[in-house]
Parts: sequence; C-alpha cells; structure tokens
Amino acid sequence: MSMEISTTLTESPTSDAALAEVLADPGFGVHFTDHMFTVEWTPEKGWHDARITPYGPLTLDPATAVLHYAQETFEGMKAYRHADGSVWTFRPEANAERMARSSVRLALPVLPVEDFVAAVDALIKVDERWVPDSEGEKSLYIRPFMIATERFLGVRPSQHVTFMVIASPAGSYFKGGIKPVSLWLTTEYSRAGRGGMGAAKTGGNYASSLVAQQEATANGCDQVVFLDSEEATYVEELGGMNMYFVFADGRIATPATGTILEGITRASIIKIAESLGYTVEERRLSIDEWRDGVTSGEIKEIFACGTAAVVTPVGALKWDGGEVPQAGDGSSELTNKIRSALVDIQFGRGEDAFGWMHQVC
Ligand SMILES: *Cc1c(COP(=O)(O)O)cnc(C)c1O
Repeated sequence: MSMEISTTLTESPTSDAALAEVLADPGFGVHFTDHMFTVEWTPEKGWHDARITPYGPLTLDPATAVLHYAQETFEGMKAYRHADGSVWTFRPEANAERMARSSVRLALPVLPVEDFVAAVDALIKVDERWVPDSEGEKSLYIRPFMIATERFLGVRPSQHVTFMVIASPAGSYFKGGIKPVSLWLTTEYSRAGRGGMGAAKTGGNYASSLVAQQEATANGCDQVVFLDSEEATYVEELGGMNMYFVFADGRIATPATGTILEGITRASIIKIAESLGYTVEERRLSIDEWRDGVTSGEIKEIFACGTAAVVTPVGALKWDGGEVPQAGDGSSELTNKIRSALVDIQFGRGEDAFGWMHQVC
C-alpha cells in the first residue's frame, strides 16, 4: 500500500524576485525550499502521518534520542532540470535502497523504497520552481534523513522515528569551480573500522571525520583521505567522496574494503567506464601503490566522486613528512570524459543508456 501524503502549502512563498536571486548563485546547502516532507514511525502504527508542510524549525524535547546517541541516517541526491523544462532524479531507488541498508545498521525502521521515492517526488513537485535551470550544472540538492525522535535517555533503538526530506538549490560544490582537490593523508584518525558503520550513511561518520578535516585544512589541503583502520595501509575514501585511480594501461581501480560508503556515483562510474571500454577493478589499493604509481607514471589520473561534487580531479597528496604530486600531466582526460558522460545523462543531454533517470515533473 502506498503512502497517503497530505499537503499544507506555505502562506508566504518566496517571491519570484527573491528566488531568482537565490538561483542565480545558490552556493551549497545554504538556501532551502518553501516546503518539507515528514512521515513518522512507531512500532504500533508503522509509517504514518505523511505530510508536506511549510519549511520550518522542528520542536524537539531536549531528551530526544538522536541528540544524544546519534541514531540517524541520511541520503544525498539531486533533481536536474532538462532543456525542455522537465525535472528528473538520478537512480532514486538506489538512494532508497542504501538508506534501507543504513537504517538496518543503525537499528532504525526501513522506509519502503516506493515510499522514499514518492516522498522525494512529492517535495520536488511542490517546490518545482526551486529547481534551477541546468546552466552551470545547477541542480536541486535533496536531503532525505531519518532521526530517532523518542523522548528517552535509555540506550535502545528509538520507538519513535521521523523521516524527513528537505531540498536546497545547489551550484558548484567546490568554490572556484572544477580544479584539482589537494588531499591530506591522516595518519592519526580512521573513518571506519571492521564491524563499524563505515558502509552506512550516518552522521556519526561525518562527526568523526571533522577533526581530520580540520587537520587537512590546517595543512593547506582541501580534503582528507582515510586509510583502513587495521593496517593503515589501504586507501579508503575521502570524508564524503569515493576515489578512482586511472592506470596507463587502461585499467581503472576503486577501493573496495567493506568499510567504505559505496557511492551511487562510484557505482555508476563503474558502468560508464566499462561501456567506454575500460577494465574496472574494485579492490584494495595501498598508499604505496599510489605513491609508486604516480612516481613511475603508471597511475595517470586520480579522481574523487560523489553526488555533491560529481567528479573532481585529485591533485597533490600530503602527509606529515611527505608529498606525492598530482598524477600524470594534469590533463585529467579520462576524469573529464567520465564526468561529462555522467552529467550529460543527468541533465538529459546524453542518452540514458542505463535507464537511470526518473522523471518527476
Ligand atoms: C554519500 C557519500 C559518498 C558518495 O556517495 P554518492 O552516492 O556517490 O553521493 C561517499 N562517501 C561517503 C562517506 C558518503 O557519505
């Protein structure tokens, strides 16, 4: 049975003039649309009371479980406006399925895939005018999230859970456009460990990454790269992006360790690269292979990928006492080719050969 969604529209929608100003330079994650989606869960009632309401603050009891024990999951996805004015999302069921896996890991209830997709569609439809036109690769960033909303300080899975969707128009994630991101290799901190929650999209993984990111910034780097926690040898990922290594012989490799968050961008690039004739390896890749491969020229390009930043070339890697320069000649040829293939599908400029796009309106 699919979810019934009630709608209460805002009485003070953002004016056309104010909206035009926001959409001209949306930044990332600073402006939010006029509405939000909410549905609640209890063991007795299951998912109930699905609604679109005006965007606004939540009132939470100070004893609300999520504030203390971080029982929460989230997703990140985008809606794209095509040249004919239609609005589409990219593989939304993949986000729904990943949230289901994350929720199982965090002992949260599973929201059915069709309800997740219906919630995202409903919010996009009601705030459709917030989807920027595709110029400059702008989009509407969508943030579904699920939080433990029981008022209880005991430690056990929450008996009241709230799933919400909010949306925010987005320009380019990195200020200053597509230029290589410099990376800081943290030798002190890990992002995830065996049996932990590295494969779940949950706020705690981000909370634990911030001090390492601070270290990166203090050392003049854009982003931090994490190694595996057991041997501090194998490359995992950045704070919020997966990694790819392009070899001179036409292979490309992406870390697979069991403790990374497997991105939908990462998975889509595997398909795109294979269709372009590349051999894709999902395997462990050591920091020595990175350093030696760049030095010998065997690694030609390195890039990072995720919904927010799409595909971004990786520049130099620094750590306490050393540095590896950017791989290859800096042309980022395959990086750019893969990036174009992906965004062309997302913005409707290229054929949707894999059936990834979902029309919303
Ligand atoms: C969300 C996320 C990614 C990228 O996933 P996409 O589905 O491609 O956006 C990578 N790493 C982490 C830790 C993430 O949370």
